[in-house]
Amino acid sequence: PGVQIQSPITDYLAGLVAQNSKDNPGANAAYIPELAAVNSDQIGACITTVDGYVYGSGDVGVEFSIQSVSKPFVYALAIEEHGLDWVLDRVDVEPSGEAFNELSLDGKQLPKNPMINAGAMTTHSLIGEGTMTVDERFEHIRKGLSRFAGRELGVDEGSYASELATAYRNFSIAYMLRNYGAIKAEPGDVVKGYTRQCAIQLTAADLATMGATLANGGKQPVTGEQVVSAETVRQVLSVMTTCGMYNEAGHWVCEVGFPGKSGVSGCVLGVLPGNLGMATFSPRLDEAGNSVRGMRMYKQIAKEMVLHMMLPP
Ligand code: GLN
Repeated sequence: PGVQIQSPITDYLAGLVAQNSKDNPGANAAYIPELAAVNSDQIGACITTVDGYVYGSGDVGVEFSIQSVSKPFVYALAIEEHGLDWVLDRVDVEPSGEAFNELSLDGKQLPKNPMINAGAMTTHSLIGEGTMTVDERFEHIRKGLSRFAGRELGVDEGSYASELATAYRNFSIAYMLRNYGAIKAEPGDVVKGYTRQCAIQLTAADLATMGATLANGGKQPVTGEQVVSAETVRQVLSVMTTCGMYNEAGHWVCEVGFPGKSGVSGCVLGVLPGNLGMATFSPRLDEAGNSVRGMRMYKQIAKEMVLHMMLPP
């Protein structure tokens, strides 16, 4: 467990990566200077099974910033801390059909779901709300994500500084949230903490393993630690299924058919409950902010391996 091994799965992933390397449409995220500069030729795909075996091909050892894929894991930590009902009173779970960075609230003046920035910044602020300092909150999150991964994760300081310097959109969302009472903390602190959360650095292999922890009912397959409860996982994977790909969530669930979450660094996490976590990495994004080649690889593997949840095995 924990070691990448040679097998027919590795061969399959190598074929998947090779077939999807032929062209490279889309563009790196332009609004975060550090991400715009990342080598866009990179591509990798990785799988970690619930018994802890890691299979990968391509750029699976390259570190990138987790970005929005941090959102489901921090949502899990918030539920563990406060209980689901309490969290539901602060962040709703309705798909928004909107861009990830939309300035929007629902009729109850709550963020619509924890996967768009408004909901994710609110969720971030719920960690140790009223009890933790800004630094303690971030450290709790970094340690929490590290427990999912089974190793200590660090921060991409360049990505953090670069995003924070141009985070005008997220500042406006946070001020909106504070104005309507959705967050209680200072908006500036929430943007800084959330941006740092998005800059946590990891590889596709780490991400696949974090997904395997979710697939395994919250129990980390290598360390054996029960990181979060199975009930929490049920909530997180449900919201990933309906909201994980923003305004492409409907297409994702129809064509791929299992929980997924994307990040603007070009990573995409997929989870097959009871079986495995998967991660792809390829920096160029489509209009919705999802990795073009990542989306394609998921559609292909879902079809070839008959993984859609609505199809009989
Ligand atoms: N840090 C990014 C932002 O807030 C994350 C967005 C994303 O990955 N979709 O804009």
